[in-house]
Amino acid sequence: MLPLLLALASLALAQDPPGPPGVPDMPVGPAPHVRTTAEHPHADFLREAARQAEPSAEAAAWRSGEAAEPYHLEAEVLAAAAALVERWPGRVTPERVGRSSQGRSIWGFRVSDPGVPVQRKLLVFANIHAMEWISTEVALAFLEELAASPPPGVEVMVLPMLNVDGRQRVEGDLFAGEERFRRSNARGVDLNRNFAVHTEPRAVWRHILPGRYQVPPEPLSEPEAQAIDRLGAQGWDAAVSLHAFGGFHYLPWAGDWERAPDWPALHALGLLMQSGQGAGAYKPMQLSRWGFFFRGHGMEIDHLYGRYGIPSVLVELTRSGIERPADLSTPFRMYNPRRPARHVELGVGALRAVAWEMSQSVQTGQPLPWFDLSPAAP
Ligand SMILES: [Zn+2]
Repeated sequence: MLPLLLALASLALAQDPPGPPGVPDMPVGPAPHVRTTAEHPHADFLREAARQAEPSAEAAAWRSGEAAEPYHLEAEVLAAAAALVERWPGRVTPERVGRSSQGRSIWGFRVSDPGVPVQRKLLVFANIHAMEWISTEVALAFLEELAASPPPGVEVMVLPMLNVDGRQRVEGDLFAGEERFRRSNARGVDLNRNFAVHTEPRAVWRHILPGRYQVPPEPLSEPEAQAIDRLGAQGWDAAVSLHAFGGFHYLPWAGDWERAPDWPALHALGLLMQSGQGAGAYKPMQLSRWGFFFRGHGMEIDHLYGRYGIPSVLVELTRSGIERPADLSTPFRMYNPRRPARHVELGVGALRAVAWEMSQSVQTGQPLPWFDLSPAAP
């Protein structure tokens, strides 16, 4: 009898009820190598930024050498943005808005004051063209300013680098000391001719240049342009695309001589940006009227305005060539002045005026002068 009782007792011990479901079998007390804090909500972005932070030997040599430029490399842009994400939790939110044709992340950063409901939205993107690094400097400086003091009631989405593959190639050229003109993405497509409003009049060119005519890719064939299209569908009270060079605030249409249906409102937005700049301010102008021969087909401002009704501005930063004709002799310098600070201040001034006008309208309840346009696709 005793052996049976002992056997039953050991069985009972063996079947000791387990702990509550979901609790792993762990020793009591914190294990020394297990992180007990929850993972950072933006760990994905921070990991990617950290992965890039270790500069390559080439990058380090270039940065410490005489050929270094006062412009951020891609890794440095991400590191600066990561510092903002960590410093201002809840204010600066990274978001992978897409991937380039070579699979690189395209990062955007939403900034808002978390204590005030968002009622107005501004989209700012830069570096659609590979070499126009001054545009990234403006976007990053604006992002830093917004993070420190976000305009109440406004969400601003800033994309410092859209054409990350093209930018990467420019970095390679700089490290190698080679002067190359770069504009397109990795597949050789000019992203700012890849949108779907006022597209290229293909049939005409096919007849004018028989044999030499190359069929351009379908509109929105490129993932970078698709990323902007997806963002556009979210609806914005204004969108600004930063380029170089020229010193103008260009407005739709780019692909048609006609005035846009909302021209007075668009012009008001351009004038506001001019007013935010002070000395050396850029004037607003309809892009297609830059020259009687010029039409920009498939451009971002026509797309965002024509398809989604977003008042959109293409800013050509700097007056390279006009101010320093010698700068036109090297492709990188053509777009990116030796001393960017003044140009960054001009660009940020224009963006600041828009963001704070939006905030003002939230506080006063007054409509924006350019607010609430309806889609006007041709
Ligand atoms: Zn450009």
